[in-house]
Amino acid sequence: MAKLILILAYWLGIPTLFRYWHRNRLTILLYHGVRSKQDTHSTDLRGKHIPASIFEKHIHYLKKHYHLLSWSEAFSYLQNKQPFPPHSLCITFDDGYANQAHVAAPILNRYNIKTIFYVTTGFLDGEPLWTDRFERALTAIREPIFEVIIRGQKKSYAFGAQKNLEETDDKLKRVLKTLTAEERKPILMELERLAGPLSPAPLLEPMSWDDARQLTHDGHEIGAHTVTHPILSRESDETCREELQKSKEVIEKRLKVPCLHFAYPNGNAADFHQTTIALVREAGYTSAVTTIPGTVGMMDDPLRLRRLAIDYCFDQAMFVCTITGVRYWLSNVKQSFFL
Ligand SMILES: [Zn+2]
Repeated sequence: MAKLILILAYWLGIPTLFRYWHRNRLTILLYHGVRSKQDTHSTDLRGKHIPASIFEKHIHYLKKHYHLLSWSEAFSYLQNKQPFPPHSLCITFDDGYANQAHVAAPILNRYNIKTIFYVTTGFLDGEPLWTDRFERALTAIREPIFEVIIRGQKKSYAFGAQKNLEETDDKLKRVLKTLTAEERKPILMELERLAGPLSPAPLLEPMSWDDARQLTHDGHEIGAHTVTHPILSRESDETCREELQKSKEVIEKRLKVPCLHFAYPNGNAADFHQTTIALVREAGYTSAVTTIPGTVGMMDDPLRLRRLAIDYCFDQAMFVCTITGVRYWLSNVKQSFFL
């Protein structure tokens, strides 16, 4: 139903109106990964990895309809509080998957587009992202029900059918995101125990530091996304400080370039707060991006910039409705209607 409304909005030309309304604002897109033609088997429950052929269509569309800026170019307008060129847009990537360097970057380079890759440094050093560990275990579990005690409360989640799996992924991940890394650890271990040995998942491999270095040689930028991808608002100030400073230091040491830009893990409004923002500033970052949907005005706080996530954008209507903000506007309308 929601998809049908989006298709209708697309054919009615509503995205063109939105693009016009937002013409003086900066649009920042968030990608997670681009799947190669060969990788047709890896699980991607959240639709985070866009097939390469579709990504290329995205790029083609963006080149035609937007003024693409590198992160530093966009940031200099923001820093100097100068108006952005009409229809300005930046592409960003989070986490540091290998396919960003091996599949996405060659396409970006062909179109001469410069982007920023926010990398989770522990992931590049070999520690899988906890969200991927969770998703992989979930898809491998064959038990019908998973029962777990979370903060003293017994909860149960259904597995089995694909629909159950997606619902459980959504519900349980939402709960896990309210916990500290320490609280989450035994639950993840229990899920992995139930899942048993897992087959390799090339889609979820990290890029290497050599890949990151090559990206900077090609004119892209590398930003920080913490060391272990914790939800910063759940952690102590001390942990946040360490995650912010250490990831910056590791990037600067490995790549020999200043690391001044940051992306909040998960990045919703509940995932960071005023103290987190102060710690981001204290660590020496000059910009920080969130996943709060929206576009950026020249007077916006550079440490809480909105982005539009390009997850599930497998067709043109969904993509165009997402980048113009129609998708989020419709979901807000739907929410207010049902509340
Ligand atoms: Zn992330």
